[in-house]
Order: sequence, then C-alpha cells, then structure tokens
Amino acid sequence: MSTDIQKSGEFLKVTISGLPFEKCTWTLGNGVEVCHQDVGILVFKSPNAKRNVVISSGIHGDETAPIELVDKLAKSLLAGDVTPQANVMLVIGHPDAINAHTRFLKENMNRLFKQENDTANIERVIANRLQHCVTEFFRLDSISGEKWHLDLHSAIRGSKHYMFAVLPHTTKPQQNGSLAVFLQQSAMDALMISDAPSGTFSWYSAEHHDALAATLEMGRVAPLYHNDLSEFEFLEKALISLMTEGDAKSANWIEGKTAVYQVCRTIYKTSNSFKLGFSGSAENFTWFPSGSLLAEEDGKTYVADEDGESVVFPNANVAIGQRACLLVKPVSISTEGKITVQCILPEAH
Ligand SMILES: [Zn+2]
Repeated sequence: MSTDIQKSGEFLKVTISGLPFEKCTWTLGNGVEVCHQDVGILVFKSPNAKRNVVISSGIHGDETAPIELVDKLAKSLLAGDVTPQANVMLVIGHPDAINAHTRFLKENMNRLFKQENDTANIERVIANRLQHCVTEFFRLDSISGEKWHLDLHSAIRGSKHYMFAVLPHTTKPQQNGSLAVFLQQSAMDALMISDAPSGTFSWYSAEHHDALAATLEMGRVAPLYHNDLSEFEFLEKALISLMTEGDAKSANWIEGKTAVYQVCRTIYKTSNSFKLGFSGSAENFTWFPSGSLLAEEDGKTYVADEDGESVVFPNANVAIGQRACLLVKPVSISTEGKITVQCILPEAH
C-alpha cells in the first residue's frame, strides 16, 4: 500500500482494502501529527491536547452507520477542516467482518475485552490488538487531561428508544456527570447504567484507564453506504466539540429530556433448553407487567418483578454461559460530579 493512499483521507476504503499494511506518520498543515498505526487505527496528536478521545466503530462488522461516521470524521481531520485540541484515536475494528457483511466471523468481539485472549480466532486477535493500542494511546508520554472512549454500534433489533447509550459498570470512582451531559447533547434518547462488568470495549477503557466511556447504539443496522448520516447530526456535532474545544463547556443535564434506566437483573443462558417467554423480535425497552413470563430453562422460570421490568438485548441464540437478556427499570439521576441514581421511577407505558 502506498502512503499516498493512506494520506488520501479514505480511511474506510484503505481499512477494508485488504492491501498489505505499513505504518506511516505525517504532519498536517495545522501542526497535528497523524499516525496510521495499524489496520483501522488512526491516531491524531495535537500540540495543544486538552483531552484524549477514542472513537471506535466496526467492532461488529454489519453495524455500518458508525463506520461511515468515523470515516467522515477521519476525512474532516485529515483535510484539516477540523483542528483537534485533543489527541484522537479513530478505530474501524473488524475489516474482515465488514467485507463479509456480518456481525462477526467466529465470536462476538464485544465480549473479548475482559482480559488478554488466546489467539484462537480472528476476533480474539483483533481484540488483543485493540486493547494494546488503546493502552498505548492512553499512556502517551505527553498525556494530560480527561480520557474519553465512545464505542459506536447499531442495534440489531427495533428499540423503543431509537438511539441509546450503555454506561459500563466500573469500580473506578469516576466523575462521569459530564459523560451523561455529552450523551444528552448527542441526542441519545436513553441511557442505560450497567450493574456489572461486561467485557465490552467501552468497559475496558473505563475499568483499565479510568476513561469516561460508553457504548452508543445508533439506530438500526443497514448495508454499508446505505445509512442516512443526518440522523446522527447531533452526535457528530458533540463528537467534534469534544475533539476541538479545549475547555469543557458548562452545559447542564436537563431532567426529563433523556430517559435513564438502571440494569437491575441479567438473565444468563445456561443450557440449550433456554427459551424467552416473549417474541424474539420484541423491541429493546419493551415493558412487561409484574408476573409476565420472561424466560424459562430446564423447568426454571423467570418472571417480571412486582414493579414490572423492561427487557434490553433479549437473545436466546447466544452461546451457553452468555447473557440472554437484561432487565432494566427507569430511574432519575443526578449528574453533579458523579452520576448518581436518585430513585426508581414508575414505568411510563
Ligand atoms: Zn454492536
């Protein structure tokens, strides 16, 4: 691959070209140093970096809107139309799955960030490489300021909330109120606060690097270049602000504008007899009244609790041992400093 192609601004085309890769670095007219570090990994180092931002896509190969959005951001940065006041790492994660128009080839990659993996399949190899690259990025010699990681996905099913963000659970005492405000400004319809470690890419950055991190579910999957990026106008603006504004804006959380849910239970599939108690095509955040059958397995049943519960990411076809469904409840939060759940709200259904 010639370096001219790498410098052309066609980050996505280069990433999925399958051409042999060579690392290359160059400096833009605005003084920003670019490093095409590895396949699908583009790093911008600003001389005036106030924060450090990872924006990743393509962890699932068929979730194409995020891939197109990251490609668009790469074009703006490489052309010098956007001058970052931050170090920025853009990721297009899984070129082989993108070319195969599939979520993954062997294994769901977004479960492979819990620890370094063996190298048994391509997803494990890529997840290891991404862990190393993110670690290297967040440990740049010159690093100072906040660390952020937005991992962009698309939902594989319909959702009561078209755009929503999942905040990973971390043991770190994060001052993450600004993350909630950022997500609200990105026009996320809902936030979901996780209750347990998950092995996702955003969890990795939150837990290991104390980054303000979230997984964003942007609408529905569609073929590459068949997405309407105007749907993500507010997200794009918020990402550009995060990269370009040296000082954090003093925006406030607007109560009631964004629905917030807390995960209260996780149902795992532990045998092949596992069945959901409702249609497999149910939308994310579908609410079930108290006593509704949610799942059954080997004679054991799971039913909605006394308040009723909403389901997110239901999937009976996961591997044994994996999560088959999350159960969530609407909550009210405070974003002063750290996100704190104030109280559980009655479900508006
Ligand atoms: Zn995904």
